[in-house]
Amino acid sequence: MSQYAGMTQTETGAGVLCDLRSDTVTRPDDAMRQAMAAAEVGDDVYGEDPQVNQLEATLAERLGKEAGLFLPTGTQSNLTALLSHCGRGEEIITGRDYHVFKYEAAGASVLGGSALYPLEVQPGGGLDPAAIAAAVKPDDSHMPISRLLSLENTHNGQAISLEDMRAMTDAGRAAGLSLHLDGARFFNAITELGCSAPHLAVLFDTVSICLSKGLGAPAGSVLVGPSDLIARARRWRKMLGGGMRQSGVLAAAGLMALEQNVDRLAEDHARAATLADALRALGAGEVTQATNMVFFTPAEGQNAALQAHLAKAGVVIGAGDSGPIRLVLHKDVTDEGLNGAIAAFQTFFS
Ligand SMILES: *Cc1c(COP(=O)(O)O)cnc(C)c1O
Repeated sequence: MSQYAGMTQTETGAGVLCDLRSDTVTRPDDAMRQAMAAAEVGDDVYGEDPQVNQLEATLAERLGKEAGLFLPTGTQSNLTALLSHCGRGEEIITGRDYHVFKYEAAGASVLGGSALYPLEVQPGGGLDPAAIAAAVKPDDSHMPISRLLSLENTHNGQAISLEDMRAMTDAGRAAGLSLHLDGARFFNAITELGCSAPHLAVLFDTVSICLSKGLGAPAGSVLVGPSDLIARARRWRKMLGGGMRQSGVLAAAGLMALEQNVDRLAEDHARAATLADALRALGAGEVTQATNMVFFTPAEGQNAALQAHLAKAGVVIGAGDSGPIRLVLHKDVTDEGLNGAIAAFQTFFS
């Protein structure tokens, strides 16, 4: 089970004041639920769901791509992209700590017969362009065929600059690789970078975006890219069991998320900075912060006691036995919740 799982409302005893485990815990608000209830729907496998069609077209246009595909999860969106780019005996070059390598159960290898070749992730969240170039295999029957470079932005909350992204994608393009971006938190990245969506998306053939994290929809991801590749991806989605029929109730939530929850991501980043400052002021351990995430490393052996102390104040965190604790800000953490969390950290360390 995930280290972030298992702290439910009943276990904490108190009502949950703020849940800092992940931005996946966000819940649809009243306006979103109304949009879901009112959604006109059809059978999306027949291409007849107006909300799904609108969501796919909206995100494709917003990122400057030809077409989009709505999928139930980010994992299926990435998997569908990898399967569409890459076949048996071909290779995907990616990062050792990237989601597609570390947290997606090697789906592209299991289901597509592709090899995942992981490179060391640099402190800033990117890969070394020279290492990308060196990883590309020559045309030699001993070796897999290097086909795809799969990158991630944000990575652990870190927004990687356009300049650094371009250095990586240039290295991939020069070697003839196709390019995929796991942009689960794409809008956090461009909010931090201060660039438009196409500025980042143009570097890639395909981009996957999660609607169910900071954007606050209950489920769903969208893959955008060229029409021919998205047509192949649609076949993979069906094969993987991701053709969802009247999924317009979910797509309506996604459209609402794009409308009301993109511009406010900067608030989450600001609250993360406030939390990081407050934790630094405690002098109780190393603190790093980027976009909506804070990583706090208390002294060895304190994680469990800290988690239990915070839970009594209704502050839910996901602390493993040791090492950095990830604290994630999102739209359901209010200033009241944030202040309560800071106060609870202060009482633990005072
Ligand atoms: C959350 C996430 C995904 C997709 O996760 P799902 O839970 O399948 O939606 C993919 N990549 C990154 C970087 C993520 O954070």
